[in-house]
Amino acid sequence: MNIYGLTIDDMEKYFISLGYKRFHADQLFSWLYEKRIDSYEQITNMKKELLNIIEKDYSINKLKIVNIEKDIDVCKYLFELCDGEHIEAVLMKHDYGNSICVSSQVGCNMGCKFCESGRRKRVRNLEAYEMVLQIMMIEEELGERISHVVVMGIGEPFDNYDNLVKFLKIINNPKGLAIGARHITVSTCGIVPKIKEFSNLGLQFNLAISLHAPNNEIRNEIMPINKVYSLDNLIPVLKEYYNNTNRRITFEYVLLNGINDSEECALQLSHLVKELNCYVNLIPYNETNNLNFKRSSTIQIMKFYDILKKNKINVTIRKEFGGKISAACGQLRSKKEDV
Ligand code: SAH
Repeated sequence: MNIYGLTIDDMEKYFISLGYKRFHADQLFSWLYEKRIDSYEQITNMKKELLNIIEKDYSINKLKIVNIEKDIDVCKYLFELCDGEHIEAVLMKHDYGNSICVSSQVGCNMGCKFCESGRRKRVRNLEAYEMVLQIMMIEEELGERISHVVVMGIGEPFDNYDNLVKFLKIINNPKGLAIGARHITVSTCGIVPKIKEFSNLGLQFNLAISLHAPNNEIRNEIMPINKVYSLDNLIPVLKEYYNNTNRRITFEYVLLNGINDSEECALQLSHLVKELNCYVNLIPYNETNNLNFKRSSTIQIMKFYDILKKNKINVTIRKEFGGKISAACGQLRSKKEDV
């Protein structure tokens, strides 16, 4: 077990179970996340005997960064995990701050037909500490703070729900990485029961839904999850989410040439999301050599955008990052994997 996977509540419980006081959790959090120690020996305000126990119970090892690819406003980091698996995270430099795209699993089981990252099936879930450390290691390498986090790297975060929530609590805690909930976005392909659970957490995180189709027919074709949780299940739960949290949902919609980018699709999409107080983010598809899908033409993207606008949908086209270094959406697959 690794110390970076404990929420402050977990840590308080741990100290109490050892017969110590709960305030040690605050102390330890401050050493880990403010002072950024590398070993327990650097801690000066806790008893040696307590530090020895912690050291026996929890490793303080970080991840290894084994490769960095840099472009002007984007960097891709390749991490090696302690079992030799590899994951990637992407740093994007915006005018409003640094944002990072975090991976949540090694591989992914959702099987979206257009997604390169998901061609490798899930090997395992990431532990909370493996998600926390993606952020910390990049902050330390960069020498700057990360202000925004999107869980949109490799993996389906709601297929790793418990670790995801621990991770969110650690990075959101003011004594942890102190990243505001409104600066953190979780993206899911639509695992309905977990969306429900998430809406009951009572926290202000942003939720993004990978929609990618305006009807069940097309969605079934490109996203197998739709056969389990169809739009008829998904849309009502999103309404409930909005009512519970008052937070607007973002729909991600990748435009795939000839598949979901017709004017008819744009109209259907407008009707589908109209009643939800939401944003639609149109994503130009990033083509990959291994899959046959093609990006919609710029004209088609603009037409699609205009139809949504005319129907009074809050719509934006995603700024593209990282195409040159294969760090774009859906392209995160370590070159170490040749499957
Ligand atoms: N599993 C989660 C998060 C990871 S994918 C989810 O489905 O939301 C992050 C986003 O990138 C998703 O919206 C996904 O559908 C999209 N995506 C996948 N492949 C892509 C590609 N080649 N080009 C553009 N977006 C892609």
